[in-house]
Amino acid sequence: MRYVVLALAALLVVVAVAFGQAPDSQPVGTAPEPTTTPNIPPPADTPVPTATETPVDPSVPPDLAGIGWRDSQALGQPARKGRLRDGTQLPELGEDFFTWDPVYNQIPNRDWRRWGTDRLIRTIITVIHQYRSARDSAQRVGIMDLSRPHGGRFGRNYGGLGHASHQNGLDADILYPRKDGTETRATKPGQVDRKLAQDLVDRFVAAGAVKVFVGPHLHLKGPENVVVPLIYHDDHLHVRIR
Ligand SMILES: [Zn+2]
Repeated sequence: MRYVVLALAALLVVVAVAFGQAPDSQPVGTAPEPTTTPNIPPPADTPVPTATETPVDPSVPPDLAGIGWRDSQALGQPARKGRLRDGTQLPELGEDFFTWDPVYNQIPNRDWRRWGTDRLIRTIITVIHQYRSARDSAQRVGIMDLSRPHGGRFGRNYGGLGHASHQNGLDADILYPRKDGTETRATKPGQVDRKLAQDLVDRFVAAGAVKVFVGPHLHLKGPENVVVPLIYHDDHLHVRIR
């Protein structure tokens, strides 16, 4: 009798296994597996990419945010044996400025012509932001050549008239604001908005510029030996910081 029971039990097991392996039952047997696997975290734990919120301080120029700041060093002199170590690049466009290629006469200036010390970049952007904040209808300010990525000579072989200085990341050429408010270079003194230009000059002087070269025909004023009229500067001003 015992053998009969065992034989029946064995038969039931065989039938059960055979039934379990039938194709129809496969999804039932395998489907629950993924949800019970402990290694898969619940959806709530999955990190979801979100936009980075940058708190905006009204006193801080927005254009400072996207810059790859480095602790830059100006070596040598602006017009003699100048080099730029760990230069910082001015972006091609900003909320308060555009860059202008002085050779091709177009926006933007090429990226290798836009390098300076971190202090120069910060000074330019801060001054221009304060200028535009005070005169909310003013056009963005155009910025032309700074220095090359590692400084050095920036003469005629780099296009246009070239520069005697601009060698160590302390010099920047800035376009004068125009009377017609367009974002382009003023090629004649009559196109320059002198009131706005004087405001820019005053602000660069207040920010500690050691030299501001201005056009001889524009009659812009400032401290003697700091604001200096110089030939070829009727279409842009040249700022040098310490
Ligand atoms: Zn210059």
